[in-house]
Amino acid sequence: MLINKQSDEKIVSGIKVKVLKKDIKNFHLNVLPPNGLVRVSVPMDTSDDAIHFFIASRLTWIKKKIDTFKNHSRESKREYLENESHYFLGKRYLLKLLDSPKNYVEIDRKKYLKLYVRDTTDIKLKEKTLQKFYRDELKRILDKAIPQYEELIGVKVEEYSIRKMKTKWGSCNSENKRVNFNLNLAKKPIKSINYVIVHELVHLIERNHGKNFLYLMDKYMPKWREERQRLNNLILSYEDWE
Ligand SMILES: [Zn+2]
Repeated sequence: MLINKQSDEKIVSGIKVKVLKKDIKNFHLNVLPPNGLVRVSVPMDTSDDAIHFFIASRLTWIKKKIDTFKNHSRESKREYLENESHYFLGKRYLLKLLDSPKNYVEIDRKKYLKLYVRDTTDIKLKEKTLQKFYRDELKRILDKAIPQYEELIGVKVEEYSIRKMKTKWGSCNSENKRVNFNLNLAKKPIKSINYVIVHELVHLIERNHGKNFLYLMDKYMPKWREERQRLNNLILSYEDWE
């Protein structure tokens, strides 16, 4: 595959790398905080092979760097402080705290996630308010999207729920046709949410991830592999990719 744009993405050994072609003489490699975004700047006429070789030869270093950021972000708990980063539908917002008699969240499309709370120092209250927002918004999205995919795939979900799940984005019981979605999906792009919906709905036809499951996934969401990779990329935060 040739890179013919000024900016492109490559996957090298499972690591997503943003490649920028610039009017420069040397290669530059950066692993950026907070999530370990890998960025390579190269001269305009650099071949795809040369870029690949450059990245591949520095993989150990890159992985070490990414691990540092990964461990750091795992440890850093949300404190709900002013200007803290929070994600909603794949975009990063800065937290703004506002005093209000009512607890709610407002998204300023450009930059801010405004958290209106009775007490701006109450971490539990702030967390609860934001989680309620995530739950309501995810429900709104699922209520709209699930019927569309039910029709496309020809299945019917008996009931769905939104849960806090540690290891899965979704789960389903194909016998009673109940589906669960991870509350944290509200932080992910719509495309990722749709991928999880299709995945779980296809499970209503096919329980395992066998040949027929893959066939059905290809049929109903041709680019599902891309979405899966994006969603499961715990190291590099998709949200920081424009
Ligand atoms: Zn599955």
